Amino acid sequence: MKHYNKPLPQINGDNKEFWMGCKEHTLKFQKCKACGHVRWPPSVICPMCYSQEIQWIAARGKGKVYSFAVYHVAYHPGFEKEVPYVVADVELEEGPRLLTNIVDCQPDEVTCNMPVEVTWEDITEEFSLPKFKPSS
Ligand SMILES: [Zn+2]
Repeated sequence: MKHYNKPLPQINGDNKEFWMGCKEHTLKFQKCKACGHVRWPPSVICPMCYSQEIQWIAARGKGKVYSFAVYHVAYHPGFEKEVPYVVADVELEEGPRLLTNIVDCQPDEVTCNMPVEVTWEDITEEFSLPKFKPSS
């Protein structure tokens, strides 16, 4: 595995389950047992009904581009070789919107509402990042 020179995820008690799922190439989100709201980012209480009762669900990994930006400037040295690249808010079928990258296509091919599906980038022994590519 090549050297990874970008910032790594910061694990905490709320997001540990999410990142453990990513390591196994599964997108996991908290679902409120009281009202059914699926949320991101993880939190102790439901932002809709304030219940603390949760379960973790596995998302299908399919969604659409809600919004996006094409980065032409690297704001961190680790991204210098990647510009231009796409940062997108992907709305998953289950509801949450995840800030991620669109890969496996040219930046000028990305549009809002474009169907996308998850693809995994194994960046270190501990971490895999969920990224998205055009859905076939
Ligand atoms: Zn709730």
